[in-house]
Amino acid sequence: MSTSMIYFTLMCFPTFAQTSLPLVINTWSFKNATAAAWATLQAGGSVLDAVEKGCDRCQEEQCDGSVGYGGSPDESGETTLDALIMDGNTMEMGAVADLKRVKNAIGVARAIMEHTEHSMLVGESATLFAENMGFVTEDLTTAKSLDMFTQWLKGSCQPNYRKNVFPNPTKSCRPYKPVANTRMEKRLHTNIHSHDTIGIIAFDRYGHVAAGTSTNGLTHKIPGRVGDSPIVGAGAYADSSVGAAAATGDGDVMMRFLPSFLAVEMMRAGTDPSAACEMAISRIKRHYADFFGAIICANATGHYGAACNKVPGLLQFHYMVSNCESDTPLLKSVECF
Ligand code: ASP
Repeated sequence: MSTSMIYFTLMCFPTFAQTSLPLVINTWSFKNATAAAWATLQAGGSVLDAVEKGCDRCQEEQCDGSVGYGGSPDESGETTLDALIMDGNTMEMGAVADLKRVKNAIGVARAIMEHTEHSMLVGESATLFAENMGFVTEDLTTAKSLDMFTQWLKGSCQPNYRKNVFPNPTKSCRPYKPVANTRMEKRLHTNIHSHDTIGIIAFDRYGHVAAGTSTNGLTHKIPGRVGDSPIVGAGAYADSSVGAAAATGDGDVMMRFLPSFLAVEMMRAGTDPSAACEMAISRIKRHYADFFGAIICANATGHYGAACNKVPGLLQFHYMVSNCESDTPLLKSVECF
């Protein structure tokens, strides 16, 4: 029997009759991240370790180009990172936003949770904190992100997230000056290629849950822009007495509705995970019918679900699951509605 099979047997047997725990579930088909988180649990690591390792695997592999260094250059060509980690037993959390020149955003988020009384640090000050905590600082730009930035400049800085400015931001680059509200048509910028986030939930067999996120945000964002991923209740939320949720998509819109918090509260009221996920998506849809986004939800018995808003480019949402049903991560999908 291989070592990993021995660990699998130890962790999964004897199983608790009413639960399907332990469980790891994460957004998108980031299989190696799921495997890293599951292996961490198998090796006796905590759920926080599992979330951190899963996110870090994506950061190192630059999952989809949307997690970690060298992706989503902002208007000035720089890659900045957002991350969150939350402990569902203690309700402690750490978040970092607009982190510059440090690759391991989830590690910095965890350091904020474990070495400060704060919940979130941002920007250059977060980088300084990270340096003081021993994280290496380095340029996050790669040939690929530089090329994306160059092409964006050549293409008159499109897509572009400014509005009510002169010159017309749908045609011209900066500098811009504010102008009176011109009632510009609402623009749909986001597509499946301009962003993604790893959002991950890990339960141990005793029902302790942690959740986390890591992303480099939105391609060509305005410098200083922070998405939903590091915002607690938006990007992710965890409460061991109920379950956890994690979201991905158009963070500028999604953060206005705290979908992860809403989904957890729905599960607290007895809603099953799939329906809780659908309710969180429906709430946003009511106001922004064409937003790009999805959410995963899992409850304290290890049942899980997902939901997504049906828009061109997102008809089906893929996510990954590891539990005692299989020693390898399972690719799951849900039809968007
Ligand atoms: N939610 C992320 C953000 O807006 C991106 C994504 O998950 O697609 O920064």
